[in-house]
Amino acid sequence: MIYLDNAATTKMLEEGADLYKKYACNSFFNPSAGYGEAIQIKKELDNVRKSIIEKLGAGKGDVIFTSGATESNNIAIMGSKRNGKCEYVFSIGGHPSVYNVAKELERLGNIVHFVGLTKDGKVDCDALCSCINDHTRLISIEQINNETGAINDIKQISRIRNKYAPQALLHIDGVQAFCKLDTTFIGNDVDFYTISAHKFYGPKGVGALFVRNLNTIKSIVFGGGQENGYRSGTENVGGIIAMGLAIKQNETEYDYKYVANLKEKMIEILSKDENVNIDKINGSPYILSVWFNGVNGETLMRALAEKGVIVSTGSACSAKKVGNRVLENIGFTKDQIKSHIRISFCSQLSFEDIDKSGQIIIDVYNDIRKRVL
Ligand code: PMP
Repeated sequence: MIYLDNAATTKMLEEGADLYKKYACNSFFNPSAGYGEAIQIKKELDNVRKSIIEKLGAGKGDVIFTSGATESNNIAIMGSKRNGKCEYVFSIGGHPSVYNVAKELERLGNIVHFVGLTKDGKVDCDALCSCINDHTRLISIEQINNETGAINDIKQISRIRNKYAPQALLHIDGVQAFCKLDTTFIGNDVDFYTISAHKFYGPKGVGALFVRNLNTIKSIVFGGGQENGYRSGTENVGGIIAMGLAIKQNETEYDYKYVANLKEKMIEILSKDENVNIDKINGSPYILSVWFNGVNGETLMRALAEKGVIVSTGSACSAKKVGNRVLENIGFTKDQIKSHIRISFCSQLSFEDIDKSGQIIIDVYNDIRKRVL
């Protein structure tokens, strides 16, 4: 099998799985307990917190461990809400775990603005400038769009916030960027930053929220007071430690370049077919959007899976939805959206994998095309 759906999830590191087992079966103590063994676990969790803060290059801040990015996004957005009606600005390109929270805030009577995307899939910064003001409580933007790979310039967005709405909190969903691109330059510009371990070779069901100043949020989960009271519930110790290992062993500058070359190679192979349209935006090296003229993306995805090549028709989380909010906003037609496939890479792939899967994609596509024409 050649797995090209790494934006949906990645294969966990074997050493991470071994560590998980160690913390499940041997060092299985509850980090909130008072005896030495438990205190040691707490220290180890704190080391993972430090590694996240370091990776973001943040001068100060805290980390709340969560069950993944969905929960981190909910805590940042709902937790920073203040009494009464608040005003918000969201990217229309946000993952459902942001977008649906925004819709809920709207339903509750808050003022919610959605900022559209430019042709290259980035948040439209002119539109952003025009909808933030003295009342904006929070701005929430994805660093890398999970469907198109478009990269938003967080430094620029932070400058806009500082100029037009310095009181506004800035939340960044960093799920598709953390441990994939250099993030050490943004830590001091953001108030909240969301990560999810399974997107960078860690376990599923574990994530974190970086919070610059804990006074800006209130708990939305009540219970035993773990995670400084901001996320009650016993921590997923093995998962967090395995996430820590994945952070330590994460991609280097060399890996980014390697993955960018894999993507280039795939573009080169697919471009040979004139009916294949490739999104050439200068986005994340890890994500490639492709349109296959005249063929339904869903049909192609299933046929490819039968041949051992795994791709997706977009975000796994929105795969069941009709239409596509993100692609529609960028301006793609219904036919283009129907024929869209997302190919997403990781550094564990070889050039041989790309050669092989690229050819299979072309062959399977032409096979279906001949049948439907
Ligand atoms: N945000 C983005 C940008 C994502 O790509 C995803 C996963 N597709 C999530 C949030 C949700 O992550 P999790 O599965 O950890 O809840």
